[in-house]
Amino acid sequence: MRSVTILGATGSVGTSTLDLIEREPDRYRVRTLTANCDVARLAAAARRTRAELAVVADERCLPDLREALAGTETSVAGGRAAVIEAAALHADWTMGAIVGCAGLEPAMAAIANGGTVVLANKEPLVSAGEVVLAAAAKAGATLLPADSEHNAIFQCFDFDRPERVRRIILTASGGPFRQATAEEMRRVTPEQAVAHPNWSMGAKISVDSATMMNKGLELIEAARLFPVPSDRIEIVLHPQSVIHSAVDYVDGSMLAQLGPSDMRVPIAHCLAWPDRMPTPMAPLDLVALGRLDFAAPDPVRFPALRLARAALEAGGAAPAILNAANEIAVAAFLAHRIGFLEIAAIVEDVLHRYDPAPPETLDAVIAVDAEARGLATQRVEECVA
Ligand code: NAD
Ligand code: MG
Repeated sequence: MRSVTILGATGSVGTSTLDLIEREPDRYRVRTLTANCDVARLAAAARRTRAELAVVADERCLPDLREALAGTETSVAGGRAAVIEAAALHADWTMGAIVGCAGLEPAMAAIANGGTVVLANKEPLVSAGEVVLAAAAKAGATLLPADSEHNAIFQCFDFDRPERVRRIILTASGGPFRQATAEEMRRVTPEQAVAHPNWSMGAKISVDSATMMNKGLELIEAARLFPVPSDRIEIVLHPQSVIHSAVDYVDGSMLAQLGPSDMRVPIAHCLAWPDRMPTPMAPLDLVALGRLDFAAPDPVRFPALRLARAALEAGGAAPAILNAANEIAVAAFLAHRIGFLEIAAIVEDVLHRYDPAPPETLDAVIAVDAEARGLATQRVEECVA
């Protein structure tokens, strides 16, 4: 029996993870499930899996959680600190599926345990990549990437001979506005932006896919996870989302991972690794697919790609600032407070205005993140005024 903790158990990735582990109740024992405030879903999942502990990050939701789980074996807790404490309880396998930098401290707590930590939650790797990787090395934790592109690269990458890798090809669907004009993009609503053509995901990452900031964050994530220079990571549009990424070797062989656009595939890879496990998805039908298309991304309509690459190359605090400003701007867009094109404009502006020393500790990253959020919030208010 492997003990499992899911941080962000009620979201899109969390639900996919639960789906897989609930298919094999003899193999997995659920330790902890956490959510922000979605008590109904959290309590239902805790009941089904007979979880030891259920935690809400928003303390105001604790009374409801306590009531929903009364009479069960599941203990309950609430508050940000309780999530971090829960992540610090040992589990053999932890899924980090909280959205945004809110997942950073819980992920760090899980890593300190030295088990297997699966990071779907990409924002901590972007903001605090070096700190997260150093903590994993120190604790002897195994970090596995669940983001579909990074999981694909992980499956194809020859870690014994990284110098034989010529390029990493990070594929991108292009999101819902791949073919939209700049004028159309100026007027898009949150409802249009979250309607991704291929993937069903949480609101924040769906907006990131629409601006292509998601691919920008993934570029930085790839540079953290795989030992190749950043100028050898290329982004290629591939609207069908069948090839999840590829590794090009010096001899001309390119290895790619293909699969259905369902997060249960990369999550299953991380659950079973280094073994393989069956999943309920229909096998990929290449004949039915018929064709796969590729194109170069448009850096003019998608400035987030340029901003993310510049932040990666600048290093230091820039990726943390990029991520924090983006989180604030996306939240403001989702709340109908700013326009779609203002998301990247705000990120760019905060990057220009704030240039702190490189953060070398977790606390320093958290301070940069907070300052960048403050500046981005000010810019949002200026846009709204
Ligand atoms: P989601 O919005 O569907 O779920 C987020 C989860 O985090 C929920 O359980 C929510 O309750 C919890 N949460 C939200 N705010 C919190 C806070 N402040 N403190 C503690 N918990 C909080 O998001 P998602 O689509 O599942 O994405 C989760 C992460 O995985 C993101 O970082 C995203 O970029 C990454 N990711 C998602 C997908 C996908 O297909 N959805 C693919 C690759 C990577
Ligand atoms: Mg991805």
